[in-house]
Order: sequence, then structure tokens, then C-alpha cells
Amino acid sequence: MSGYQTIDLKYHGLDEADAVFLFETERGPVLVESGPAVTLQTLRRELQRLGVDPDSIHAILLTHIHLDHAGAAGWFADHGATVHVHPFGVRHLSDPSRLNASARRIYGDELDRIFGELLRCPESRVAPVEDGARLDFGNVAFTAIETPGHARHHHAWATEIDGRRVCFTGDVAAMRLPGTNFPLFPLAPPEFELEPWLASLARLEAMDFDRLELTHFGRIEDPRAHLARVRDRLERETDVLRELIEDDTLEDEDRLAAYRAWISEEGRNLDQAHLRAFAKRSLLSMNLAGVRRYLQTRTAS
Ligand SMILES: [Zn+2]
Repeated sequence: MSGYQTIDLKYHGLDEADAVFLFETERGPVLVESGPAVTLQTLRRELQRLGVDPDSIHAILLTHIHLDHAGAAGWFADHGATVHVHPFGVRHLSDPSRLNASARRIYGDELDRIFGELLRCPESRVAPVEDGARLDFGNVAFTAIETPGHARHHHAWATEIDGRRVCFTGDVAAMRLPGTNFPLFPLAPPEFELEPWLASLARLEAMDFDRLELTHFGRIEDPRAHLARVRDRLERETDVLRELIEDDTLEDEDRLAAYRAWISEEGRNLDQAHLRAFAKRSLLSMNLAGVRRYLQTRTAS
């Protein structure tokens, strides 16, 4: 097989919300991302449907260790896969207790429904990957591109397929409302930072890929236009949230309502019910918290 397959995890029953990418390499099957623990059964079923034994996964390349990207990796590590991740992510994969406890503080019992806890990876199965490192699987090789901003420990993964330069962007090139080119952002606390994110986007733009693959979700065949749109929206969206946060006549309910109205206006040509299904209240309030935290740490330092 040349190329790769996109596996739709049907996250919470939604099409095109969360992806895993499957490569069949000369060293064995390789995944980019693992998805969250709650979709592990779906992923295993989809692998089997594609003729791949889930026990035979050779390696997993993670873009970062958030629960919706890395939660299920531990199961594959227990079955022999090596998990490649930014050096900052290593200890959280081999001992996820702190990460899970902080997710539990945010989501409470809902954590088990929304993501599930991050499964622990045996320490010997986790391999740190520095910026620029190349992982060679015979017929396919990947290069890590450090791309902080959404998270400090974020890598995008570059590869070449049939002469086309493809980049698996995790969350750095934003999410996309399915069926549209409308970007949505996870401005997650405590690591969201605007300037590193903009620098990461500039880095990807300069690399001039032929194609991007978004974890949320899918194929972008016009990387230049996409990255320009993402950069523009990221700056304006952060700015809107900053103004709302700095206006101390507002309560957070007012801020969320105003933010919601702004997103609806940005997406005025879209199906509003579809937009609301992805720009959920939980995403909006996470973004409000993420920008607030970013502004606080910036003033403190
Ligand atoms: Zn993330």
C-alpha cells in the first residue's frame, strides 16, 4: 500500500470530529495519534476492518498528550507499540496520574464520558522526540516539527507520500467545521500562548507543504490559504476574548454570550445548528479560560 488511511473515530457520534491516521510501513503498522480512551474500541474495530491486527501496531506518533489525541496510546504500548512524543510529554504518558487528576478537576465525573482517562504507557515504550528528529520506518519516514502555541509540547509530523509533502498538524493548524473551511480553535489552558502559536504557523507556512492533515479533521489541499485563514482568525479571536476579559463590567455569562455572537457572525454563511454542534459551550468556555490564563501569565512574567 502506498499512502495512508484516515480513521474517523466517530467521536461522540460526530462525523469528522477526531481522527487517527494509519500507515502500513515496512516495520509494521504505524499510527499518527491514538484518539481518546473512549474511542479505543472504535479504533480497534476500524483497524480490524482495514485488515490490521490492533495488537500489531509498531509505533504511535503523537502530536501532543491531550486526552483527545493520546488517551488510548497506552493500550497499544501495552501490546508492544513504541509511543513517540515531545520530550515534555514523556513523564505524563508513563505516569498520567497528575494529568488525569487535573482533567478530573475540570470535568468531574463527565471526564469518563467526554474523554476517559489517559491510559498509562510503560516507561520503556515511550520515546522522546526532539525537534527535527527523523523516524524511519523503511518505506515511510517522519520528521518532528516542534510547533508550540496550543500546547508547549506540540509536534507536527512531516512526511512524503507519492512525492507530495504532507504534514499532520495535530491542533496547530486549528480544527475545522466539517464540510467547511471555517477554523475553530482550542485555546486550552494552561498552555495556550498566542505568539508561539503564530510563530509555529509561520514555520509551517515557510515549509510550503502540499497537503495538511488535521486531527480535527481531515485533508487540506490548499495549505497556504488555510494557514493564512487560521493566522488571521487566531489573532482576531484572541483579541475579541482579550477585550471581553478586560471589560470588568461583564460577567462570564455575558462574555460567553458575546463570544458566541461573534463566532455566529464570523460564520454567518454557515448552518448555525451545525456550527453550534462543534462550537459547543464547553469549547467556548475553555477558550475564555485559556486566554485569561495566557493574559495572566504574560503580565506576571
Ligand atoms: Zn490539544
